[in-house]
Amino acid sequence: MTRIDPAPLNPADTHPALLGSLCPPSGVKPLNFSPGPTSLAAEVQTSIKALFDAERMCSMYLSHRSPEFLDILASTVQRCRLAMDIPQEYEILFMHGGGHGQFAAVPLNLCPNGDEKATYLVNGTWSKRALTDASKYCRPVVVSSENQDGSFTHNPSFEHLDPESKYVYLCSNETVNGIELHRLPKLGIKAPLVIDASSDFSTKPIDWVGCNVGVLYACASKNIGHPGLTLCVIRRDLLGTPSKLCPGVLCYTTNAREGNLWNTIATFNVEVVNIYMEWMIAQGGVREMERRAVAKSAMLYKLIDQSEGFYSTPIADPSIRSRMNIPFDVAGGDEETTRHFLIQGWERGIVGLRTLTPFGVGKYLRASLYNGVSMDQVAALADFMTDFLKTCRSKHASASC
Ligand SMILES: *Cc1c(COP(=O)(O)O)cnc(C)c1O
Repeated sequence: MTRIDPAPLNPADTHPALLGSLCPPSGVKPLNFSPGPTSLAAEVQTSIKALFDAERMCSMYLSHRSPEFLDILASTVQRCRLAMDIPQEYEILFMHGGGHGQFAAVPLNLCPNGDEKATYLVNGTWSKRALTDASKYCRPVVVSSENQDGSFTHNPSFEHLDPESKYVYLCSNETVNGIELHRLPKLGIKAPLVIDASSDFSTKPIDWVGCNVGVLYACASKNIGHPGLTLCVIRRDLLGTPSKLCPGVLCYTTNAREGNLWNTIATFNVEVVNIYMEWMIAQGGVREMERRAVAKSAMLYKLIDQSEGFYSTPIADPSIRSRMNIPFDVAGGDEETTRHFLIQGWERGIVGLRTLTPFGVGKYLRASLYNGVSMDQVAALADFMTDFLKTCRSKHASASC
């Protein structure tokens, strides 16, 4: 199989830091700012490792119908409910197919005829992609904030939404574009909200009932676990009317009825979520996670805003700046300076700032500060960015380095 590497800025570049390598020089501890999949907190990783040495069989090879796994599953559901204050009228499912699976699952579960209207609020690349897939299974009404050049720098209007829509779709954190809703909106129409919370789930509280949340899903690999599991929370009154074309693995009704065991669940990934939720609750719960997310992101935004243009971020309005994914450029995107920045960061262990996405490499670098990224790690990145800026400034009067 041929390997497709991300295109370096300059085709002659073969330095690992410019190819998006996540492995710093040997002996240097990686500080992982990758947009995902990503690292979990060190304590969580230690507990996961211990699963392989435990007395009972590890969940990776434990039958999903064994009493031991049923205990793990029940405990994971209960911890998710507790940690995220999920009311009893919602089912909690652990599904396959990632975030992309849900792009199709949502209309296939909520639009039995396939021609129902559904409003898509498009505020970034992921909601745009969800819309593309949903177009096969429903009639989307599109409300988009895409700029003429294809960028996204603000949210679309949430007013005057189509009252006949079966649901209103929204991504609460646009991972690539760096736009976040720090609280879900209260739209004041009957249609329930469907939320893609893949990159911000468990980083802030959710007002499930007050915001009329019908479905909320999160692929595990950003904040709560590893790829291979998608957490879906569905209000029970929305079950029971899937399209007859909805495949069993994507069907909320089937999976809820079978208690998450219609087919083989991702056993190990479920236990990882359980360990993660236990850690999060012990740390002080979702409010503490939010406090940290605010503090970590503020550290970087402050540095960027005070750099007199040496660093810049595309989202001007602080009220929608993502706390999870911070896009920024270096010296106005100057190629030479950016190369130096990536290589010098990599030498200090700073990795994941430039990665290939389904939407290309992109103009901006991006620091992802999920719950697994500690305050100290963000401080190390901020120190590097400050040092780099100072060195460049002392070498040159101009912005470039
Ligand atoms: C990562 C991500 C996805 C894609 O998830 P997959 O598990 O790769 O299918 C979807 N939506 C958002 C907001 C994401 O951050």
